Amino acid sequence: MQVLVLNAGSSSLKYQLIDTNTGEVLTRGLVERIGTDVPDHTAALHQAMTTLPETARVEAVGHRVVHGGERFSAPTRITDAVLTDLDRLSTLAPLHNPPALQGIRAARALLPAVPMVAVFDTAFHSTLPPHAYTYAIPYDLYSEHGLRRYGFHGTSHAFVAREAAHVLGQDLRDLKLVTLHLGNGASAAAVQGGVSVDTSMGFTPLEGLVMGTRSGDIDPAIALWLAAKHGPARASDILNRESGLLGLSGVSNDLRDLHRAALAGADRAQLTLQVMVYRLRKQVGAYAAAMNGLDALVFTGGIGENDPWVRAQVVNGLSFLGFHLDEECNERRGQTTRITLAGEMPAALVIPTDEEGEIARQTATTLLA
Ligand code: AMP
Repeated sequence: MQVLVLNAGSSSLKYQLIDTNTGEVLTRGLVERIGTDVPDHTAALHQAMTTLPETARVEAVGHRVVHGGERFSAPTRITDAVLTDLDRLSTLAPLHNPPALQGIRAARALLPAVPMVAVFDTAFHSTLPPHAYTYAIPYDLYSEHGLRRYGFHGTSHAFVAREAAHVLGQDLRDLKLVTLHLGNGASAAAVQGGVSVDTSMGFTPLEGLVMGTRSGDIDPAIALWLAAKHGPARASDILNRESGLLGLSGVSNDLRDLHRAALAGADRAQLTLQVMVYRLRKQVGAYAAAMNGLDALVFTGGIGENDPWVRAQVVNGLSFLGFHLDEECNERRGQTTRITLAGEMPAALVIPTDEEGEIARQTATTLLA
């Protein structure tokens, strides 16, 4: 089946046309500057469609939707009723869901006869037990307003967990895994028996690890302090767009720039790198404790797939769990690799993620079910 995968952001539209029978990516592209050079998502999709090969037959569209709330725990075929429910969810995810909805509306207008599926970043984490998703705040805030941990990057965590079982030659149901999706956004998941039992992002993608521009975990009183001083919108911007690697280093949100600055002697870049890997080690240790064991640690995302230094810092810093880094294998980049000594458990693996491929497969599976 030829599936057009759409990932709509507020000012950009990423797309791939994937043949799910062969796994081949037939076209991929990115339309940027929506709202300025390109009037809206409909125009952006129009532009994207003109780049598809003449032989393309779009048989289905798979939409990446960030937040599925408690309503959506699996990929879902889009109908008018589903769209109404998605609209309601925008109150939970005001920064993330509205662009996806614009993408869905644009696609339905341009391709009215093509079936469409929403694939949710939150869905893989719908298996979190209540003790992992409940915050210690007045219970009504959960029961009446849905304030709980949801978790994100689920498509990626699910994909690399499955691949890890393949690489290890074991049944996913027998494994305790920690998956680290480390890109510009970053999150960890504890995957036990093939299901997510905890994850570091929370009510929004702001919680958890140090990210490119997001703070990750902080004392919530800091958010209150910022909101009192600058107002809530500015406070949100500071924590989501001006913090993390960028805010702490004052250099960049890109780890490659931070390595260069650290090598050149920039103290804050060095501190930023140390804060990031320290938090990663603590997170993996916490999840090993949460699962009472760990069989494998999986690195993915732009940083996880390409940065041997970060991987070495994390794996060597967790030698008490039994990890022995294979330094030579760890130097490889961007390919599936075991980076701990062969045959030893726990293992550490690098597995390139494939979120678009996974969305395409889930779209096809949902429509063929
Ligand atoms: P992603 O969001 O998964 O595309 O990851 C993007 C981030 O990965 C960038 O901001 C960089 O911090 C990091 N990254 C990409 N390539 C490399 C590389 N070769 N070495 C280290 N970090 C990288």
